Amino acid sequence: MPLILEQNMNISESLRTTDLLNRLSPAESVSTWSSCGKSREAIRELLEQKISESEVNSATGEMRDADAFFVADLAEVYRQLVRWHTNLPRVQPFYAVKCNPDPRVLALLVKFGTGFDCASKGELQQILSLGVSPERIVYANPCKAINYIRYARNNNVDFMTFDNTEELYKCKQHHPNARLLLRISTNDENSICRLSLKFGAPMSETEELLRVAKTLDLNVVGVSFHVGSGNLDPASFIDAICRSRVVFDQGERYGFHFNTLDIGGGFMSDSFEQTAAILREQLDTHFPANVRIIAEPGRFFVATAFTLAVNVVAKRRIPEENKVMYYVNDGVYGSLNCILFDHQHPVARVLKHAGRMCYNQYVGTGDHVCSIWGPTCDSLDVIASDARLPFELEVGDWIYFDDAGAYTVAAASSFNGFQTSKVEYVSTDLV
Ligand SMILES: *Cc1c(COP(=O)(O)O)cnc(C)c1O
Repeated sequence: MPLILEQNMNISESLRTTDLLNRLSPAESVSTWSSCGKSREAIRELLEQKISESEVNSATGEMRDADAFFVADLAEVYRQLVRWHTNLPRVQPFYAVKCNPDPRVLALLVKFGTGFDCASKGELQQILSLGVSPERIVYANPCKAINYIRYARNNNVDFMTFDNTEELYKCKQHHPNARLLLRISTNDENSICRLSLKFGAPMSETEELLRVAKTLDLNVVGVSFHVGSGNLDPASFIDAICRSRVVFDQGERYGFHFNTLDIGGGFMSDSFEQTAAILREQLDTHFPANVRIIAEPGRFFVATAFTLAVNVVAKRRIPEENKVMYYVNDGVYGSLNCILFDHQHPVARVLKHAGRMCYNQYVGTGDHVCSIWGPTCDSLDVIASDARLPFELEVGDWIYFDDAGAYTVAAASSFNGFQTSKVEYVSTDLV
């Protein structure tokens, strides 16, 4: 396992973690280890403990707060990191902070030597305050406010992206020594969140951008792209890498010496091995070994690491429709904003019913048709209009959502006075 870190040997902090890696990673293969039951048990234990702490105090009969909460499995983030380095040894990950800026997750990634993709002054501050060297940051927002550009320059963050001439003039004036990556648009039709609608220069404009950059004597060092978040078609990387090759050749013609390709984010846990196989082949075909390849995965590292537990605070029967409406204490204005902003369809499962833990027991079963609503007074706050659960729930029961780590806590609000859900951690010895 320490071999995996060898690609990051230039990042001195990761060396110190070699012992930790040895301790954490048994001789078994990565896949055996990742499918072992250890984490699931730890998650279940913590869920149970937190829930029982929240229930009625039997001595006094007093109700305690039964707030919704997350359980974050830090070992899962670590496993994804190992999976990354095993499958994409050539590609250095720069974690996309916006996906989930949880402090323990960031601390873990800092420790294991990843870089970070920041998109605002706030994210730059957060990462720099962890003692991360500015070299390990890419400021990957092609449209930046001038005061943020100045903040980046003053803090030696000089790796950043652009996709329009206006940005080049701003860079010339406020950060003339930046190392720039030209963000190109991609065909992202098969992704759930189409980022190329907003960012990325079309191929018809790349030459003009390079010409202007050369005239301004700016230092363009490579190309970046993003195939779209929630990308369902691993093959979309093929087209994006071919486009990047074209722009690399244009760069050469305009007198630049490109040395970096940034393949962005969009990696999905389910299709990762398949995507990685395509990428390895494409990268080796089109980019010689002296080109540094980086990526900006967000979802891949955190999605599967978080579980959200919510409490049924109210219910209502609709006899005519033979349906039940449940009201739970986190929703679309809180952690489950991913339903609106990230187009996710979280699957509700029974966590605790009538005093009995059911975690993981009824996966894939359910004839009880119901709707599940968030706690706010807005009817937009609906988590599932036709959920399927194995049986009817009672007030006080608990529901959970797996794979709740990406684009959830990150954008949660406290609208209507409902506080955002806290995070509890397992495998904390990793951080
Ligand atoms: C959102 C974003 C990412 C992360 O995307 P994922 O789909 O979560 O991997 C990476 N890079 C940029 C520029 C982004 O905007």
